Amino acid sequence: MKITRVTATPIHVPLVPELTTKTAHGEHITSPYVIVEVETDTGLVGLGEATVAPRWSGETRTGCLAAIDELIAPSILGMDPRQIESVWQTIDGVIRFNPFTKAAVEMAIWDLAGKAENAPVYDLLGGKVRESAPIKMVVGAFPVEKAVGLAGRFLDWGVNTLKVKVGLDADTDLARFRAVRELAGPDVPIGFDANCGWDSDTAIEMMAALNEHDVLFAEQPIAAGDPQALAALRKKSDIPIMADESCFTVADAVQLVRHQAADILAVYPGKHGGLTEMRRISQVAREAGIVCAMGSNLELGIATAAMLHLAMADETIDSERYPADLIGPLYHQADLITQPLALGPEVATAPDGPGLGVELDREQLARYREETPPSIDAMPG
Ligand SMILES: [Mg+2]
Repeated sequence: MKITRVTATPIHVPLVPELTTKTAHGEHITSPYVIVEVETDTGLVGLGEATVAPRWSGETRTGCLAAIDELIAPSILGMDPRQIESVWQTIDGVIRFNPFTKAAVEMAIWDLAGKAENAPVYDLLGGKVRESAPIKMVVGAFPVEKAVGLAGRFLDWGVNTLKVKVGLDADTDLARFRAVRELAGPDVPIGFDANCGWDSDTAIEMMAALNEHDVLFAEQPIAAGDPQALAALRKKSDIPIMADESCFTVADAVQLVRHQAADILAVYPGKHGGLTEMRRISQVAREAGIVCAMGSNLELGIATAAMLHLAMADETIDSERYPADLIGPLYHQADLITQPLALGPEVATAPDGPGLGVELDREQLARYREETPPSIDAMPG
């Protein structure tokens, strides 16, 4: 089995207007992403999706297309996609960084390897350790009234866990979290995500103030890049610390563990360059006795499917304790796949077909295909 062609198609899918979101990095209104198809001499085609976001990983859609066309595709033509590690090493060797671009091609390789074996990707990963994963919905960093409205909408739908975005203005952050807690009552676990938005002093004050309102986790309260500062903050609070922006690479995970800077590592294949590297990060967490939680930067159907397979097969991703962000398609006007994934309101399950178990919706691809990249970029979760 040989790779014969790699096609990268730029797309642009708006979020559902009432579900656009906002974080300390900015607003997420529309998603200019890239769909990848890897063809083989057997007729099997693997699917991937790059959820590129310039302010998140430094990747642009135009850069993603160029990296695939000029560097990644030529390097893997003729390779056997069943040799996943070898293909990954090749992809990783032709360009530095660019995790979301690499992940798109690498998830297509997993899709092909699964299709070649007639097995779902979760079986290639060692088989399911759970049949379903609890999910949570994300309330953007909006003014209190709008945030409460969103939380109410999610709770009415039947969601059991929420994440509230903070990290902008401390007083409004506190008011937003309090109001959502008041609406949800004491039985709904709620975490928060500051997306690097606070300095250490503000984070100490905010975590002390928020702790009265029963916080499930504190995600990325301060900037990335200083595990010692994160460790110092962790010592001052009982709230479990989740590292997201601080954890892109295996080396990042090792540093976080070495400094005892986090209780939870937020993981998803796009951020780490694919399933292979994400598994290595979860192994680091496992060896250190901490857990992972499935994060997101609001994927469409293909990338969410890759996350679902990992969520079911990796016991270190503790969705029972920290419900997963398996939610991207719920926020978008289209998912680009023919059959919607089983997402929520309480749990998500993985598709059971060979490979990633999803099929590209060519009608949607034609509708959302975009030749000229828009100026607005997507923002992460
Ligand atoms: Mg986050």
